Amino acid sequence: MNTPLVEFVGAGPGAEDLITLRGLRALEQADLVVYAGSLVNPGHLKRCKPDCECRDSAAMNLGEQVAAMSEAALAGKRVVRLHTGDPAMYGAINEQIRALAEKGIASRIVPGVSSVFGAAAALGCELTCPDVSQSVVLTRTPGRTPMPKGENAAAFARTGATLVFFLSTGKIDDLMTALMGEGGLSPDTPAAVVYRATWPDERILRGTVSDIARKVEEAGFGRQALIFVGRALDAQGGASRL
Ligand code: SAH
Repeated sequence: MNTPLVEFVGAGPGAEDLITLRGLRALEQADLVVYAGSLVNPGHLKRCKPDCECRDSAAMNLGEQVAAMSEAALAGKRVVRLHTGDPAMYGAINEQIRALAEKGIASRIVPGVSSVFGAAAALGCELTCPDVSQSVVLTRTPGRTPMPKGENAAAFARTGATLVFFLSTGKIDDLMTALMGEGGLSPDTPAAVVYRATWPDERILRGTVSDIARKVEEAGFGRQALIFVGRALDAQGGASRL
């Protein structure tokens, strides 16, 4: 018998054709798919076999997810855990991998297109521009998960790197205030917010660190959005964007 296995597959940022071929193949062969219903495009599930069981993880706690996946994997079934974007970014996969390992189940990760790259494509810009920024910080504001000491937005801002904030639109006002205050960014530093990148209802707001919070509040964006900050955002020198 093959070693029991769970494949953690990155579904990509939203659009159905932004999953990898490897991820698609895993979905097509799966007997059980546990997917993040609020974030993953349900269209991906159309690729599963008719008898594949698809379960929304939103209705399950960690113990229930691990129980469902391990039972199926130990019965010789093919199991896919479908995550939004790339599983390595805020995917909370470590706790699942550890709990599966305790039951003798191996894990394999299939990378996906993170929303940061779906959103950068929507913005039509490079996040690393010579003479402007050669580093990108992927971070967040604290929520239920506190930030480790030393990892704060203002400190990152002072490096001059392009900043990308996940999970943070609810706190954008305080965040921009911190970036301009302790972070030392000038009020005209470019900022952009991409809502539901690569989905049909994708929206983009552009502005500066001093006005983007107001624009986001007026637009009423939900949580599925990323905040970009830095000079790289307007460094392409007016090159045309579609
Ligand atoms: N693993 C995912 C991130 C999960 S955390 C990835 O690699 O993209 C969830 C956060 O990701 C959301 O709060 C939002 O900040 C961001 N996000 C996920 N999908 C998005 C999308 N299509 N457009 C913009 N932001 C998105």
